[in-house]
Amino acid sequence: MALRIEQFPVLNDNYGYLVRDETSGKVACVDTPDADAIAAALDRLGWSLDLILNTHWHPDHAGGNEALKARYGSTIYGPQEVTRIAPLDHPVTAGDTVDLGEAQFTVMDVGGHTLQHIAYHDARDAVAFVGDSIFPLGCGRMFEGDPVQMWSGLSRIAALPDETKLYCAHEYTAANARFALSVDDAPALKARAEAVFAARERGEWTVPSTVAEEKATNPFLRAPLLAERMGLAGHSDPEVFAAVRKAKDGFKG
Ligand SMILES: [Zn+2]
Repeated sequence: MALRIEQFPVLNDNYGYLVRDETSGKVACVDTPDADAIAAALDRLGWSLDLILNTHWHPDHAGGNEALKARYGSTIYGPQEVTRIAPLDHPVTAGDTVDLGEAQFTVMDVGGHTLQHIAYHDARDAVAFVGDSIFPLGCGRMFEGDPVQMWSGLSRIAALPDETKLYCAHEYTAANARFALSVDDAPALKARAEAVFAARERGEWTVPSTVAEEKATNPFLRAPLLAERMGLAGHSDPEVFAAVRKAKDGFKG
């Protein structure tokens, strides 16, 4: 049986995720942006919380660990860096696996936004929880890592099967689309951007997306194809990626 995923908006623009293995009834949350909102969602569903899976240490991802663990006795998995601000029971790194009943998540290194940022990939259900590493039409700001590290992480995400659903932690897609259109004129991007603007006008979520959609339209994954446009023909992929990232950081759309 499959994984059931409950998605709900929290804080200004975060998404909270509860994930239930329908066979065993085991439940995990991915990141803890808001302990009260997560507890309210668990109450509404009649679920407890077995596991907490952190993607990185930022407070809108690990800030609710302590309160949720106190309330539910949950076991917390995440990168070691989480201990900067929150409790952690089991540090995990790339290649480790975390079982949720019959579902299994493989830990991927997607560092760069923070040094130890990880994603959780469930191949059986074709889903990945990617935190702030990649967003629809965007990627996380490179706060701690360097372009080589961040490009490597994004490349690992791009190498997942096309149909893999990417569950990221924020609804930034409309702003990302405006930037993407400023650096790339791919027809698929124009069509997707229009669909995104229309969806947001209707108040709809644009998360999750898929690996196939991001490979076709995300300007960060497409960085090598934008080298000439960025004035960087002949430069390495991480160098072009870094230029696109820098352009986004300064973009006033
Ligand atoms: Zn973050």
